[in-house]
Amino acid sequence: MKGIEFPLFKTKLDNITERFDLTDVGDREAYFELKAGLEIRKLREYLKENTFICYLMGKKNSGKGTYAKMLKEIVDKDRIEHFSVGDMIRTLDEVVNSKEKQKELIDFLEKNYRGFLPLKDIIDSLKGRSTKVLLPSELILALVKMKISDQEKKALFIDGFPRNLDQISYSLFFRDLIGYRDDPDVFCLIDVPESVIDERIKYRVVCPKCQTSRNLKLLPTKEVEHENGKFYLLCDNMDCSKERMEGKEGDELGIEPIRERLEIDEVLIKKAFSLHGIPKVLLRNSVPVKDAKDYVDDYEITPEFSYSYNGEKTEIEEKPWQVKDDEGSPAYSLMPPPVVVSLIKQLTEALGL
Ligand SMILES: [Zn+2]
Repeated sequence: MKGIEFPLFKTKLDNITERFDLTDVGDREAYFELKAGLEIRKLREYLKENTFICYLMGKKNSGKGTYAKMLKEIVDKDRIEHFSVGDMIRTLDEVVNSKEKQKELIDFLEKNYRGFLPLKDIIDSLKGRSTKVLLPSELILALVKMKISDQEKKALFIDGFPRNLDQISYSLFFRDLIGYRDDPDVFCLIDVPESVIDERIKYRVVCPKCQTSRNLKLLPTKEVEHENGKFYLLCDNMDCSKERMEGKEGDELGIEPIRERLEIDEVLIKKAFSLHGIPKVLLRNSVPVKDAKDYVDDYEITPEFSYSYNGEKTEIEEKPWQVKDDEGSPAYSLMPPPVVVSLIKQLTEALGL
């Protein structure tokens, strides 16, 4: 990220030549055992009696959720919760449209909301809300509290909060408000080059039938179909029927429509980076091409796929995906597992384990 330097994290182990297919569940487990087995056991032990709150901060579409969910799967499904503020806001419509849920929400807010706008106005604006209208921070805060109070005492990855500058200061005393007083909190900042976000959007495709999402360039299915010089992924969800996957209208613009959001996200990350007194986990999605050999194994690098048709069948070519990082230098983008190894190790250290 321009202006701040996220340190490179070494996931390459000396004298180990074993290779893993990181898209395979079984292989992935063996991979995590080899690269972070000790830390995973420490975290599991810690979670038997303790919790933590980890605020995930990264640009929109940077894969925050992917990392947290993978960590949860690997470390302890039952004691870790990943919670997306964006998803919660999207389900608010459902709450507002159901009389019963609405009453529950209003009861909670009456006890827990403190803010400058009258609660009644907020509820009215929720009812007639368009997704473009930003909800006041005080309301978001109350809603996050509601969500957390629903949970048993679990370690939490909070994704999408703080979302605005004023919410950063809320997050500083947040744990005091919700009864996590003795538990540590950690900021997890994620650096993903904008070119990576851009191509993830441009090439993403969705199955029109089952909504499974893939990426023509970065995450193909097993079968690819060719027609009139164009290539299509066929859905390989076992419960689906090999539908042709399609891009969404507007996705060809990449990051352009969300540029403003990305800029705000960058300011937020830099602000959080400059905070004192809170442990920080710094994750980077990319590694400069010149350093790759020393820091990562080649199977940890995200491949890109390209297609050609020889008149009879479609040929698929795979090679390491090379992008320009935000400084304009050539870099590779990492698969999620090595980033999660870095997360596990840094988190263990931040918790003093
Ligand atoms: Zn499908």
